[in-house]
Amino acid sequence: IMIPLVKVAMPPKERLMPALEEVLYSGMIAEGEYVYRFEAEFAKLFGLPLALSTSSGTAALHIALLLAGVEPGDEVITTSMTAEPTNTVILQCGATPVFADVDPQTGNLSSSAVAAAISPRTKAIVVVHYAGFPADLRGLREIADQRGISLIEDAAHSLGAKYDGQPIGTVGDFGIFSLQAIKHMTTVDGGMLTMRDGGNVALAKKLRWFGMAKGVPRTEVDISRPGFKYNMHNVAGVIGLAQLETIQQRIDRHIENGSFFDEAIPKIPGLTVTRVDKECQPSYWLYSVFSDSSDSLEHCLANAGVAASKLHRPNHLHSVFASVRRPMPQLETYYRRLTHIPCGWWVTDDDRQRIVDALRKG
Ligand SMILES: *Cc1c(COP(=O)(O)O)cnc(C)c1O
Repeated sequence: IMIPLVKVAMPPKERLMPALEEVLYSGMIAEGEYVYRFEAEFAKLFGLPLALSTSSGTAALHIALLLAGVEPGDEVITTSMTAEPTNTVILQCGATPVFADVDPQTGNLSSSAVAAAISPRTKAIVVVHYAGFPADLRGLREIADQRGISLIEDAAHSLGAKYDGQPIGTVGDFGIFSLQAIKHMTTVDGGMLTMRDGGNVALAKKLRWFGMAKGVPRTEVDISRPGFKYNMHNVAGVIGLAQLETIQQRIDRHIENGSFFDEAIPKIPGLTVTRVDKECQPSYWLYSVFSDSSDSLEHCLANAGVAASKLHRPNHLHSVFASVRRPMPQLETYYRRLTHIPCGWWVTDDDRQRIVDALRKG
């Protein structure tokens, strides 16, 4: 049996099914009390100033960009080394993604490349903590502050990670999380938005619900700006509440496995791993190994029963981004040498030893 690269985590049936049955037949399946309780508990557990739930991480990121004031014609500095929604939402705002090159040892946005990409039209920086490894938030925060632009953390890969002791998602003006099927934690689909300035909460809530304020009678409510159907429902809220009971253990296991690989893999000739700076505590959604031939590495792991792949496609390679492509030599090398290996809560002590043995044999 193959060790999978990613895996869906569901709470035990005995825990989840009675709660699901209750909410499904309660007559209250839309956004309601379960959603609000889930938001409060999520914020508390992950040390966030607040958490607004959404129907997806993509929805949360779209709202964050709009709250950052991103409008048609603006530029948003971003990374190509990510899942596609990071950048398709920039287009959705009518803005232009400006791809900056990555740090060759982390795959995360290089602060100097970001500084060089700033123009008078730059409205925001979107940073991804790729594979769960925190980016250079100090450098990016400084650039954003100097220029008076927003820093948005796409923390879809990095739930539970920390930077300089701060919870991931809280150094940026906005932070978003994804609760999609294969992330650290899932509500089937869902997302969370956090922000430093609570003054934006009312607008954020309107944007996630057609542009309307909740709690105002429908006959009196006024839409002054169109919003979206981006809210979370009670059924997802119930799943989220059950997930929170065990999520810390699962994240801890990602970190244990990641630390094990950090120790073992660099000792193998020809292989390197992601650089972890001292202020970074990764949450290791995926583990990344770098070699001269990612193809033969994947092949040797497959023979040992280990699923391994690059998993993502640098976004600028999609034709929708053809007009904004620019040379990114460091990303090119990073991506060519990259292979992801399983690292999550489902990887046992035996599994991770098997992975290291297979890598050693080459
Ligand atoms: C998964 C993901 C998203 C989008 O999240 P959804 O919940 O699937 O909408 C955004 N950014 C990154 C980096 C992701 O991996």
